[in-house]
Amino acid sequence: MAKLQPVRGMRDFLSTDAKKLRYVEQIAKDVARLYGFEEVITPLLEHFDLLAAKSGEEIRARMYAFRDLGGRKVALRPEFTASIARLIVTTLRNKPKPLRLFSTGTLYRYDEPQFGRYREFWQSNFEVVGSSRPEADAEILSLTHHFMQKLGLRKYWFKIGHVGILRGILTDERIEEERQNRVMQLLDAKRWDEALSTVEQFGASKKSAMVLKAVFKAKGKDSSKVLAQIKKKLKNYDSSVAAVENLQQILELCEESNLKFNTLIEPGFARGLEYYTGMIFEQIAPEMEISIGGGGRYDKLAELFGGKSTPAVGVAHGLDRIVLAMDKQSTTPEFSKQVVAIIPISDDVIPRAMQLALQLRKEGIVVELEVMGRKVARALQDANRRKVTHAIIIGPKEIEKGKVTLRNMRNHQQQLLDIEKLFEALS
Ligand code: AMP
Repeated sequence: MAKLQPVRGMRDFLSTDAKKLRYVEQIAKDVARLYGFEEVITPLLEHFDLLAAKSGEEIRARMYAFRDLGGRKVALRPEFTASIARLIVTTLRNKPKPLRLFSTGTLYRYDEPQFGRYREFWQSNFEVVGSSRPEADAEILSLTHHFMQKLGLRKYWFKIGHVGILRGILTDERIEEERQNRVMQLLDAKRWDEALSTVEQFGASKKSAMVLKAVFKAKGKDSSKVLAQIKKKLKNYDSSVAAVENLQQILELCEESNLKFNTLIEPGFARGLEYYTGMIFEQIAPEMEISIGGGGRYDKLAELFGGKSTPAVGVAHGLDRIVLAMDKQSTTPEFSKQVVAIIPISDDVIPRAMQLALQLRKEGIVVELEVMGRKVARALQDANRRKVTHAIIIGPKEIEKGKVTLRNMRNHQQQLLDIEKLFEALS
């Protein structure tokens, strides 16, 4: 017997669930259009090596990877950015910059399923390619904020950091990149103490451990205060200071352009993906304590794939989690619309019923034709159950005279009406 449940971590989206997801996806598309992003549709399946190159151990170990029938090692994409990087170094190599690229679709990670965590999930992904300037980072924050506002979400904040702060210290302490990545993974898992002892094991100075501790501790809502505070502690770590200044620039730009969102500055935070080089952020909704979006700057990814140095900054929004946040914050729209059921009383008027259905659909009215051959009373019961707004009942005698019965399903009022007046009555 075949297994009739979806594979663990996979879900079916029925009716309202499908509507909610597509609604959020449509708003993402509207935002993409408003900000000048071009949609790119890339394959679900990519070479394993491309996806593994710089995803970060967390994600690398959780890929759905297999050999295809031709023996190629492939994987279902766990994120969009690797595919975008592939395009940047190949097909889009010589295109004038900046590129603003946008995608939506499903991603696959062998995560442990739980609330808001699935093995197949949806994202909208935005990347600005070719600019290293702070206004490009600010645009990514702006569009994310705009997206949430359009969805009616009000309660969320941006947790913001900059990987250059930590990496700057580790680089100055001569800790090589591979080892830095291990420290960043521990930080991503919020294992601060282990991260500190690992740094010491790697031979970092006592002083750097103190500085790192101060960076981990420093967090707060007031960005200028937090950043000024850690800047003092970072004396002599020049590239870390430059990273703080870059973050200050981005945030000042947001503030000065009247972009108002709640922030929590957390300079010691890291993200699971290894390719980040600059500002990083996650967006958190209070009821969930899991991120509904995340992103940052990655200036070295194109080089890693053999392309020329191409700065880029992007964000991925978790559409499934946004749907959950909307439910929690009661901002999910009603999705109610006018639906008309057409019910022929007898078989001989079915062709007339179908003609009328076609006419109304041409006017943009949603019509469900009775296709079960039920008696009127049963068909009306069913229409009621499915929240149909109007029913048109077509009988042989009435239709001879060019008339039909229109029933308002909400107030149960019925009227015999000329067909010509039908459209008017429905609108
Ligand atoms: P990432 O690609 O890891 O930067 O994640 C970006 C966003 O995708 C997160 O903020 C989540 O909203 C969403 N996301 C990541 N992993 C999952 C998952 N397993 N299930 C549902 N959403 C996810």
